[in-house]
Amino acid sequence: MHLRLTDEQEMVRKTIRKFVEKELIPLENDVLRSEREGKPSLPAGKLEELQQKAKDAGFWGINTPEEYGGADLGQMMLAIVMMEVSRTFVPFQFGGSADNILYYGNEEQKEKYLLPTINGEKKSCFAMTEPGAGSDTRNIRMTAVKDGDGWVLNGEKTFITGGNEADFVMVIAITDKELHQTSNGREGVTCFIADRDMGWKSEYIHTMGEWGPAGLVFDNVRVPEENILGELHKGYDLGLEWIGFARWIVGARAVGAAERLLNMAIDYANERETFGKPISTRQAIQWQIADSAVEIEAAKWLVLNAAFTLDQGEDNRHYASMAKLYGANMGNNVIDRVLQIHGGMGYTKELPIERWYREARLWRIYDGTDEIQRLIISRNLLKGHVKIG
Ligand SMILES: Cc1cc2nc3c(=O)[nH]c(=O)nc-3n(C[C@H](O)[C@H](O)[C@H](O)COP(=O)(O)OP(=O)(O)OC[C@H]3O[C@@H](n4cnc5c(N)ncnc54)[C@H](O)[C@@H]3O)c2cc1C
Repeated sequence: MHLRLTDEQEMVRKTIRKFVEKELIPLENDVLRSEREGKPSLPAGKLEELQQKAKDAGFWGINTPEEYGGADLGQMMLAIVMMEVSRTFVPFQFGGSADNILYYGNEEQKEKYLLPTINGEKKSCFAMTEPGAGSDTRNIRMTAVKDGDGWVLNGEKTFITGGNEADFVMVIAITDKELHQTSNGREGVTCFIADRDMGWKSEYIHTMGEWGPAGLVFDNVRVPEENILGELHKGYDLGLEWIGFARWIVGARAVGAAERLLNMAIDYANERETFGKPISTRQAIQWQIADSAVEIEAAKWLVLNAAFTLDQGEDNRHYASMAKLYGANMGNNVIDRVLQIHGGMGYTKELPIERWYREARLWRIYDGTDEIQRLIISRNLLKGHVKIG
């Protein structure tokens, strides 16, 4: 057992930190200004320009298999990279990746959807949630009915990340009502790849965050048989795999943001004087800083453990839920303390704290709410799937 980063991991961490400090953090004021004016966070073309710079530095397709031109750095590296890049709120993501479930496509689907997504020519989204089915994914109502050489989709999806910008959606619909009922929702649903020009409509949903998901409406949308992703009636497992992929990464995001914010609070506490002394000399402030540092450290180890377990080829779902649950709550707690330490300034839009505060609230909701993570963790223990100690 070795509880330190390897030389290679440390080198990657430092390189990403330099990239974040040089290329992303200087954009923060512009991002805040644009968002205040209701404009997109980054001007058109800027994300692609940044992705190209990252590519030149060797960071492209971080988790994409080498046969698709990616770097395939593994989950530990992904965790390290995500923690570093989350030290800024600038909405940057590395280029060269695609949704995990697109790799289940056949050769034609890979050619038409996977490769263009990796290359940044097409944008995807994934749609499981419906107005009546969020946590309770087995309660979906959208139907796909066989008609000649295709399927006709009807229904509504909601809260779909990237749904207003996507060129195609991987959408889950019921294809066999009886099987869906008798299997308690695990079978009888299928994942379809539906291009926007097949006729589905999207509408942006305004949220308390700076980017919004979309509602999607399918009104007799015809999708050809060859656009079934994976196996007919077996789409539920694909859905769970898509949701599961990002779960522990939410914890990694929280760690990166919390580290940066706690540093801001430490600097501010040392500078800000009240009653003739810096507030850092007050125990009330010191304890908030100490508690935050301990919680960040704990969350970091949970995230690294979830990533390491996956790299070993083991089932990491229990640890992913722990990293997500603890990380998301840690992030919210730390941001709240950092805002408190900044007093009135923390509440203003002059500083990015309130922006992070709004964004962080989502971490406890999407990719499975706090309550669903607790349900998973306790079920694993109570049923003996995972043992304590
Ligand atoms: C910004 C954003 C982006 C999203 N992106 C996507 C996306 O790209 N694709 C997609 O398919 N979905 C997406 N979602 C949907 C997201 O996964 C759901 O919102 C989430 O799973 C919760 O579902 P819900 O909102 O319907 O809440 P509900 O399931 O209605 O839950 C309401 C409350 O009840 C609690 N609860 C529910 N069941 C139980 C239980 N058994 N025990 C105890 N408490 C329970 C919940 O924890 C929650 O507190 C996104 C959501 C948001 C807000």
